[in-house]
Amino acid sequence: MYDYDLLVVGSANADLVIGVERRPEAGETVLGSDLAVHPGGKGANQAVAAARLGARTALLARVGDDGHGRLLLDSQRAAGVDTVGVLVGGAPTGVALITVDPSGDNSIVVSPGANGRLTPQDVRTAASLFHASRVVSTQLEIPLETVVEVVRSLAPGSRFVLNPSPPRPLPTEVLTACDPLIVNEHEAKVVLGDAAGVSDVPEDWARLLLAKGPRSVVVTLGGEGALVASAEGVARVPSVKVHAVDTTGAGDAFTAALAWRLGAGASLAEAAAYAARVGAAAVTKEGAQVSFPTAEEVAAL
Ligand code: ADP
Repeated sequence: MYDYDLLVVGSANADLVIGVERRPEAGETVLGSDLAVHPGGKGANQAVAAARLGARTALLARVGDDGHGRLLLDSQRAAGVDTVGVLVGGAPTGVALITVDPSGDNSIVVSPGANGRLTPQDVRTAASLFHASRVVSTQLEIPLETVVEVVRSLAPGSRFVLNPSPPRPLPTEVLTACDPLIVNEHEAKVVLGDAAGVSDVPEDWARLLLAKGPRSVVVTLGGEGALVASAEGVARVPSVKVHAVDTTGAGDAFTAALAWRLGAGASLAEAAAYAARVGAAAVTKEGAQVSFPTAEEVAAL
């Protein structure tokens, strides 16, 4: 009865990557490698990750009327995402300017561009997408007032999943809608604020986050796996041992997979165990969207 397993509301960016021997000082120019342009942004990444796994997925986002916008639309369609909700124009497509040095450390400047113009009115106009979607997922690379409108637009019976990245303190109205709130260690600390200082133990952060109102919480721990927390208690989700090559996008793939499995009726622990396999598969390859596995690749892991 739902047309979509997952509606992702969020950002779409062109990632412009240049390799450098070292980052420039103020006033200095350095020469770098050939430019690589990749489709990215947490919303676009989540949508591609879900669609590659086989989820019927739609994206609500805004891109510019420019070449980067067309690159992003093409990569969504190639993965099988329905782009009926992708709005075009109003500002240039969001861009991340990334320099990477030989040790793999990077410096990133983000221009939100069209992502910053995805408005509460755009969400209201897309009401039919919300009614057609079993699960709705978002992040914080779009305006917070737009995220608040997403929560207000949820259809009865649909489920809301939030990865608050980049992190900031969240209003109670958003926190109480999350089922689950998905955070890494850094995001957990920012959302908790002063309360994070009381403990270094991720299980404690999960309990403290749960006390802020979400119906469930997931804390991702990189190569250490994840934690799930709900009224039933806190449980560890073991990581899958792989040779990690590039962790870019692992959190986006994890979130998309978790949202999809929850919508299919899995328990939080089952969905997180599957998502951990997806996250692990994603770190075995270079890049973000190109590293996201199909369901067959997850099964073969
Ligand atoms: P983020 O990218 O948001 O910081 P994490 O780095 O915690 O998120 O990764 C998300 C999930 O991906 C983890 O919970 C884990 O399941 C999986 N993952 C990430 N890094 C590794 C790794 N080195 N080995 C195995 N699984 C990993």
